[in-house]
Amino acid sequence: MKTEYFKKKLEAEKAKLESEMQNIGRRNPGVPDDWEPAPSSAEVESDPVDQADVVVNRENNAAVLADLEARYDATLTALERIEKGTYGVCEVCGSKIEAARLEANPSATTCSEHMR
Ligand SMILES: [Zn+2]
Repeated sequence: MKTEYFKKKLEAEKAKLESEMQNIGRRNPGVPDDWEPAPSSAEVESDPVDQADVVVNRENNAAVLADLEARYDATLTALERIEKGTYGVCEVCGSKIEAARLEANPSATTCSEHMR
């Protein structure tokens, strides 16, 4: 298992996801490791047409942010698994995850038979 290789990929992915989350969101001050969509400056404007756009925008951002957050969590979990020496092992059956599957998705935690 070339864990160094996958570790580099995962660290690059983590940095990329962090910067993408910062573009559209901010860390939730009350909940560590949780992200919320950042209010845009347009939200203070009172034009009702603009307001409608802002709501749609904010909903889109929340959906994109939730997706980024899920990928970010999976990436952190994979990095933890590398530290623990359990990286590349299927969570369900304990067999090795196919190299091609890890290549396509370095944060995979199951073999292709047990993927959800
Ligand atoms: Zn399996």
